[in-house]
Formats: sequence, structure tokens, C-alpha cells
Amino acid sequence: MGSRAKSFDYYFCDNCRIYVYDEQHGDPQNGVQPNTPVRALPLTWRCPVCCSSVKNLRAVTLCDDISKLELARIYSQLKGKRAG
Ligand SMILES: [Zn+2]
Repeated sequence: MGSRAKSFDYYFCDNCRIYVYDEQHGDPQNGVQPNTPVRALPLTWRCPVCCSSVKNLRAVTLCDDISKLELARIYSQLKGKRAG
């Protein structure tokens, strides 16, 4: 509470690392309405890119209005460091 910083929750598919689920946008092509939290996604939901399950979505919270492309770059860098 009290923090007025903008924050957006994005969810990367940790399997393909291409797809990003945006709760505000939902996934209308797969019947998911906008503003649907990841927790409310149906268990039958699959990543549109690689068909992996909702469990592979990894939350990323940012405090800025950052583009998804930028986010993808940051994420892949983080991933690269761990992958060693
Ligand atoms: Zn995927």
C-alpha cells in the first residue's frame, strides 16, 4: 500500500520464452477475457506458441512502462546468466 509506482505483471512462458501473457490484455484468441489473472486461467489453457501448460508461465513484475520486447531482452539476459 502507498506505493504509487506503476507496475505491470507479465508472465513469460518459461518453455518457449517467446510468449508473454499480459493480464490486462488476456488472450482473446483462446477465449481468455482481458483482465483475467493468470490464476484464473483455465487449466486447459496452453501457450499459443509452444502449447506448454499454464504452470510454465513465470511472473515478471516491472515498475515501469517497458515494452515487451525490452522485457524479453532482459529476461533472456537473466536466463543466460543462470544457464552458464
Ligand atoms: Zn510457450
